[in-house]
Amino acid sequence: MKHLDEYRQAHLVRGILEDLRRRVTRPWVIMEICGGQTHSIVRHGLDQLLPQAIELVHGPGCPVCVTSLELIDKAQAIAARPEVIFASYGDMLRVPGSGRDLFAVRAAGGDVRVVYSPLDAVRLAQENPGRQVVFFAIGFETTAPANVMSVLQARALGLRNYSVLVSHVCVPPAMHAILGSPANRVQGFLAAGHVCAVMGYEEYIPLAERFRVPIVVTGFEPVDILQGIHMAVRQLEEGRADVENQYARAVRREGNPAARAVIEDVFENSDRTWRGIGVIPSSGYRIRDRYRTFNAEERFAVDHIEAHESPLCIAGSVLQGLRKPHECPAFGRECTPDVPLGAPMVSSEGACAAYYRYGKLAHG
Ligand code: SF4
Repeated sequence: MKHLDEYRQAHLVRGILEDLRRRVTRPWVIMEICGGQTHSIVRHGLDQLLPQAIELVHGPGCPVCVTSLELIDKAQAIAARPEVIFASYGDMLRVPGSGRDLFAVRAAGGDVRVVYSPLDAVRLAQENPGRQVVFFAIGFETTAPANVMSVLQARALGLRNYSVLVSHVCVPPAMHAILGSPANRVQGFLAAGHVCAVMGYEEYIPLAERFRVPIVVTGFEPVDILQGIHMAVRQLEEGRADVENQYARAVRREGNPAARAVIEDVFENSDRTWRGIGVIPSSGYRIRDRYRTFNAEERFAVDHIEAHESPLCIAGSVLQGLRKPHECPAFGRECTPDVPLGAPMVSSEGACAAYYRYGKLAHG
């Protein structure tokens, strides 16, 4: 398959690794932001192929993992209402809130449905005019265009029974928070290719300059990831801190202007709470006032929910690259994919789920 097989070829992998071994003179810590990249790294054992001096740590780029506990509890409160059809991606149904998950809400009689696109949720609203359809709009910049299109579509159709519960987060402010932390160990970043396909990469330039950290926009196949690491290490060894684009086949410097324009029309920046991490200023999107009728948080009175995280879960440290999943005392014991204590054990992009699924228990 074009753009897939050619990025999995063993001779390319070997060539990159050999050159990397020649270049590395000292230890470096590199963070891949995206949970999809984490899964690719762990699944293909890429971190085990690297020179020992290069340590990969996993970032907060798993949207299911960072959706705040308060918002998951709000989602459950809305989904339990008799007039509501609550539509969500499948991953979110198993994410534990303070007490239960959306599956439990469904078992108790809530009308919770799995959809594969926000436009499926708009269709549900058309087909069920007597019900309120709420879509759980989570994600990074990548999924924002589809989510805002659902709002625009609902408005164009004159739907009064469609709204979105928004939990959108943005990558650059999270990188800023990680780099600004006194505990930070990250010296170079692999930025998420699909996020940059939407947003471009100009907003990463001030980060690279301010914190003197190389940032390489990187794809998701093994050769992509190793090339991204190679480019980051090369910069580090040469004392450079630039933004480079490994994923040029999908990413342009300015991103996708049409997608950015619809995001800008419907959303505005806001502070956002990241699960396990806390509030990061200007790190999310919220619905602009002119679209407030589509805002589920305004339509349903769900304020004043007090959320309680499991005291065993160290997901916040995992998501900031400070700890690895297998260092969590609950990993594989109290917390498994069947009985998850935290979101990173549930999500298909969660680091804990990747370590569990691919049997990565004891090494770095
Ligand atoms: S293994 Fe489970 S409890 Fe530990 S950090 Fe991951 S999700 Fe949280």
